[in-house]
Amino acid sequence: MDPALLLNASYEPLSIVTWKKAITLLLLGKAEMLVAQSRKIRSATETFDLPSVLRLQRRVKVPHRRVHFSRSNVYRRDNYRCQYCGERFSASLLTFDHVLPRSRGGDTTWSNIVTSCQPCNRTKCSRTPAEAGMPLLNTPTEPRWWPFSAGAGNVDEHPDDWKPYLWI
Ligand SMILES: [Zn+2]
Repeated sequence: MDPALLLNASYEPLSIVTWKKAITLLLLGKAEMLVAQSRKIRSATETFDLPSVLRLQRRVKVPHRRVHFSRSNVYRRDNYRCQYCGERFSASLLTFDHVLPRSRGGDTTWSNIVTSCQPCNRTKCSRTPAEAGMPLLNTPTEPRWWPFSAGAGNVDEHPDDWKPYLWI
C-alpha cells in the first residue's frame, strides 16, 4: 500500500507516513484528508478511502533541521549531475570539487562544493570556474531540509497528488 504525505496544519510538508499511520490519524480526528488515493481499504464493516495527502488539525512546532553536510548529500543535492558538463553519473564516478580551490582558501562547505565528474575535475584543476571557462550549472547552496529529506531531486518519483504540496 502506498504511503501518504502528511502536512502540518500550516500546509507545510512534515513527513511521509505509512497508510496505517495515516488512517489512524484520520480515525483519531487528528488529521483531515486533503487528497484520497484511488484505492480503498475495507474492514469488516466499513470502507475507507486511503489518504494520499492529509493535514494535521493542530499545528505542531517543527525544530529547524539542517541537512548533514557529506559527500553523498552533495551528490544528492546536485542530482548526481556533474555541475560542469551536466552529465549524470553513478556516485562511484563522481568527485567532490572545491569551486574556489582549497589551495586558494576555498572552504569545504555547501556553498563551495559541487559534484563533478572525474574528467571535469581534472580539467578544472586548481582554477576557478571563470578561469577555467567552465561555468557552473547551479550556484551551490545548503539544501533546505524539506524536500531534501523526502528525496531531493527525485520529486518525479512521488505521486502526482503530492506535487502541489511539496515545494512550499
Ligand atoms: Zn563533467
